Amino acid sequence: MGLVVQKYGGSSVADAEGIKRVAKRIVEAKKNGHQVVVVVSAMGDTTDELIDLAEQVSPMPAGREFDMLLTAGERISMALLAMAIKNLGHEAQSFTGSQAGVITDSVHNKARIIDVTPGRIRTALDEGNIAIVAGFQGVSQDKKDITTLGRGGSDTTAVALAAALDAEVCEIYTDVDGVFTADPRVVTKAKKIDWISFEDMLELAASGSKVLLHRCVEYARRYNIPIHVRSSFSGLQGTWVSSEPIEQGDKPVEQAIISGVAHDTSEAKVTVVGVPDKPGEAAVIFRTIADAEINIDMIVQNVSAASTGLTDISFTLPKAEGRKAIDALEKNKAGIGFDSLRYDDQIGKISLVGAGMKTNPGVTADFFTALSDAGVNIELISTSEIRISVVTRADDVPEAVRAVHSAFGLDSDSDEAVVYGGTGR
Ligand code: ADP
Ligand code: ASP
Ligand code: MG
Repeated sequence: MGLVVQKYGGSSVADAEGIKRVAKRIVEAKKNGHQVVVVVSAMGDTTDELIDLAEQVSPMPAGREFDMLLTAGERISMALLAMAIKNLGHEAQSFTGSQAGVITDSVHNKARIIDVTPGRIRTALDEGNIAIVAGFQGVSQDKKDITTLGRGGSDTTAVALAAALDAEVCEIYTDVDGVFTADPRVVTKAKKIDWISFEDMLELAASGSKVLLHRCVEYARRYNIPIHVRSSFSGLQGTWVSSEPIEQGDKPVEQAIISGVAHDTSEAKVTVVGVPDKPGEAAVIFRTIADAEINIDMIVQNVSAASTGLTDISFTLPKAEGRKAIDALEKNKAGIGFDSLRYDDQIGKISLVGAGMKTNPGVTADFFTALSDAGVNIELISTSEIRISVVTRADDVPEAVRAVHSAFGLDSDSDEAVVYGGTGR
């Protein structure tokens, strides 16, 4: 029996009862002969509550102190979980990200893991302990400051530790039974996916399926770590995310043409109005945004009006970065030479993902037909080889997701899309 890494999300450890339930599950894995490393998130909506609190004392909390504050959430859950395990008669030790050897760069609030040196975890395991690690945090290599990995970052901690410890599998325990063909909170007829490739999962995660964080899937693909996403509330098999299909019983598992529909309402749209239509303009705009360390998603440039020679450029970005982007563009208004800026945070993005798109020419047409039949207006479009995304009004998103899901025959006949916990926040 090898080493397993298990990650429990906030909804799985939302209260004392949840912590005791999870502790029992961890002890079972240990009793089955595994060495067990557990990565734990902050309890319930603790991280959101800490952010709300920070905003009450400082309008745009960021940087070192913000990270110090947020990492407190995971410290609470790791210590409580270790106590609950000890109470069941098993040895457990908790470790902060820094103690566990999670080394990052020094970009506060969205640091990247650059090395993992889990010496203390190895020792704890060799001494017969269950090791509990605080997710979502590390320590910067140069300044030795505490950093966080961005929202949802415990998934990345788990995969990074699984890679560094050469684990058999990384199990991600959450409040649904696996990865579904759409968010079960929006599509009650969503179907559980038995196996999905790293590539399709990467696209779903990047398009807003927050059941797994994009960076975590990237990491797993790079180190070829199979991920098993499953519920901490049920004993059911979940979804395997790996490079090759993992056989389940006598059921043949193969790549679906369409893996699923993702949605995202966490982005906003910025429109730079009245930009001179000449070479170099887009470069200046996006250099300004990049220098502010903001990642953008979709871009569209209008055809310029012949009479004025001016055009508009729109792009989408995380709402959380909206203020920073507007400030950076305003500061460089003279350099760029635009008329005005428009900011719209009432948008949503819907994406259809599936490797089969490459070889099935009708997919795009069917996607747009489904949206049009649902009366949904499209504002922006972007595609990759295995994804089509559109931006719509935020209010249209749930209806649009359900329409596309049905149109591609993804609806399930059974009620398998159970949501066991969490607030969906
Ligand atoms: P955790 O607290 O365990 O990290 P998250 O809230 O980050 O949980 O992720 C689980 C949630 O992801 C589910 O409750 C579900 O609403 C959402 N979700 C979005 N898209 C999907 C999908 N395709 N399959 C399953 N869950 C999804
Ligand atoms: N607690 C952090 C968050 O809510 C990290 C995580 O849950 O993965 O974003
Ligand atoms: Mg999560």
